[in-house]
Amino acid sequence: MSVADYHDIETAAAPAHPDVHPDMPPGVIVGGPLVHAKLVESYILMGIFLSGSVAGLMWAFLQGVTWIEWSLFAIMYTVTTIGIGVGAHRMLVHRSFKPNVVVKFLLCAAAQMAGQGSLLKWVGNHRRHHLYADDVGDPHSPYLDGKGWAFATRLKGWLHAHNGWLFDDTMTDNSVYAKDMLADPMVMMFTRTRWFWYMLSLVVIPGVWGYAFGGFHGMMGTVLFAGLLRGYLMVMSSVAVGSVCHRIGYRRFDETRDRSTNELILSVLTFGEGLHNNHHRFPRDAYISHAWYEPDLNGWIIRGLARLGLVRDVVDASKLHRVRAEGSANAVEETA
Ligand SMILES: [Zn+2]
Ligand SMILES: [Zn+2]
Repeated sequence: MSVADYHDIETAAAPAHPDVHPDMPPGVIVGGPLVHAKLVESYILMGIFLSGSVAGLMWAFLQGVTWIEWSLFAIMYTVTTIGIGVGAHRMLVHRSFKPNVVVKFLLCAAAQMAGQGSLLKWVGNHRRHHLYADDVGDPHSPYLDGKGWAFATRLKGWLHAHNGWLFDDTMTDNSVYAKDMLADPMVMMFTRTRWFWYMLSLVVIPGVWGYAFGGFHGMMGTVLFAGLLRGYLMVMSSVAVGSVCHRIGYRRFDETRDRSTNELILSVLTFGEGLHNNHHRFPRDAYISHAWYEPDLNGWIIRGLARLGLVRDVVDASKLHRVRAEGSANAVEETA
């Protein structure tokens, strides 16, 4: 299938399917060529990540790793985690701030290098998750499968939310959930060239770094450990937000109709994305911490970029909510 075919199909409407829950909302594609393309990409990517991770672990135990591998591991984990959290999630999905064109390009590149599918697919899936969180239509709820049927066991639900949804026969219709992304030339450029960015992140940059500081031996170790193993661990930390943060942790905002939670260890690993209950309550907020002990590095980065004048119109919906609530409380006091 050519790239052109792929995008023609992405804009096609979802056909009706007898196999899905009767309350399934529009914009869910079941079966067909696009789902086939999704499955092919999921299997190739997971095959690369899994085999590379096994090789990376074996290399670490048999050959050992030095500052060369660890330094690039830290750099690339940081770059791709910021890319997904600040770029794909808060900038593209939720429009939490407006970037200048250079910042947008760099954040899109960093997000695409995470190897989590195209930016277009990421945005469509995540918006559908918010709209139907833990209800029929959620692509990765630990309570319902991709077709809207409840899971018989907790383990099945957790496996689906963590990884299984990448391999089921359903798909988000991006002409419903990501129309703006389909019309965004930069996002579509990254979507079309996604394999270039995956390879840059997993093989090319680690290879060059390792060869420059450690010759051929350094190159092998850095590609396997800081490229492929790091790439897989970073994907795992991201998908754990969908599986863990709808099951384990505390709920600051019990009024959300989903079962999202805040989980602090994952908040450290994902630079803030684990504050998922806060995020479901105020999805457009650029900064999602509501207490000193809730770490949100991605939010601090956005605030820093705003201070430098590199991004603007930073959304703070929870502050607006607080001000309005205080305003109405004062009004009630005055009229009492
Ligand atoms: Zn969620
Ligand atoms: Zn979100």
